[in-house]
Amino acid sequence: MQTEYFEQIESNVRTYSRSFPTLFTKARGAELETSDGKRYIDFLAGAGTLNYGHNHPVLKEALIRYLSEDNIVHALDMWTEAKFDYYKAVEEKLLKPRGLDYKIQLPGPTGTNAVEAAIRLARKIKGRHNIVAFTNGFHGVTLGALATTGNAKFRDNAGVPLVGGTFMPYDGYLGEGIDTLDYLEKVLGDSSSGLDHPAAAIVEVVQGEGGTNVASAPWLRRLAEICQANDMLLIIDDIQAGCGRTGKFFSFEHAGIKPDIVTNSKSLSGYGLPFAQVLMRRELDQWGPGQYNGTFRGHSPAMITGAKALEHFWSDDSFELEVQRKGELVKQGFQELAARLRDKGIDARERGLGLMRGVDVGSGELADKITGAAFEKGLVIETSGHAGQVVKCLCPLVIEDQQIARALDILKDSVDQVVR
Ligand SMILES: *Cc1c(COP(=O)(O)O)cnc(C)c1O
Repeated sequence: MQTEYFEQIESNVRTYSRSFPTLFTKARGAELETSDGKRYIDFLAGAGTLNYGHNHPVLKEALIRYLSEDNIVHALDMWTEAKFDYYKAVEEKLLKPRGLDYKIQLPGPTGTNAVEAAIRLARKIKGRHNIVAFTNGFHGVTLGALATTGNAKFRDNAGVPLVGGTFMPYDGYLGEGIDTLDYLEKVLGDSSSGLDHPAAAIVEVVQGEGGTNVASAPWLRRLAEICQANDMLLIIDDIQAGCGRTGKFFSFEHAGIKPDIVTNSKSLSGYGLPFAQVLMRRELDQWGPGQYNGTFRGHSPAMITGAKALEHFWSDDSFELEVQRKGELVKQGFQELAARLRDKGIDARERGLGLMRGVDVGSGELADKITGAAFEKGLVIETSGHAGQVVKCLCPLVIEDQQIARALDILKDSVDQVVR
């Protein structure tokens, strides 16, 4: 059996194959298929990397055409037509319509590369080392990004002290009715607070790995004001919550703020190809030539599908309205799920934004049981949160209503099966 082969050859560090121990072979849209022909609805979608679903035909066609014509696949960061078209698409479909005047940096192809570049740039501009990060934040696992990531599971395996980050309470961390920014503002204004004056703050509008915690629009606006008043840059890590996940292309659009620096990755290529970018206000582009580098900066196939995705999905507001509508379906289903759990004596709560939603069931053990039962019934769905206590929806944004309905049915049955 293949299980044994994978187990003996692959490092123990593997994660998702533990939750979903089967051999996946095919995928289209919001569905996965295994070698023995079993089909699953995909509520994980590459942890938010497949917002436009698996193998979207329009993106696939552009990619195949590009490859079949012997176009440039790898060019370091030299100029190519693929890059020209990608930049044009970002400018025309994303930046101009939103009144954003950003320059684009393509770092290495992963999210953590983008975060490393963003915080390094902030430090260089401000001449300070400290970065304010927030409780339950996740920004990647290379050392610089890891210093701004809260979860001990990752931090404890760094092997060296993680320096350069100071954690502040995220919105809602201290319970309802407490504005956690009072604390940040207070320590920034007190030269004896022990806080080294930060170069920047980095934050997710909806915390993906942290458990679909949502920062409210007023909280984000106040954070932006505090950053400005204290000569700090505001970095929005939109790696998971961006690319339409919350019902707007950029998650920060909900709050009407314009961050100094933005990071994107995960669904940026639209096709599951590795790709990341840093957007920065024009005057913040204080890099010298080659001061940040990497072999895979702007991989052409990813730029081809990335540009195509922007043209196909983001030329008007119809797609984001669809995401918002489907987000309400999942919200309603998750609220019903939470109510069902409360009826069984479990203090469960729904939260999220757009199609980035979760049900906090209070314990990682219970969340694992629910997602385990759901997997048996044909749904791939993961957990998140500090204890893995949140059952989380990251389904493709192109998912069909009836697939959402089926997934919600499976979750309901799973809850009934594991909680009596
Ligand atoms: C996934 C993620 C990262 C890290 O991206 P990688 O590609 O895994 O390095 C950083 N920030 C957020 C918010 C993420 O969800």
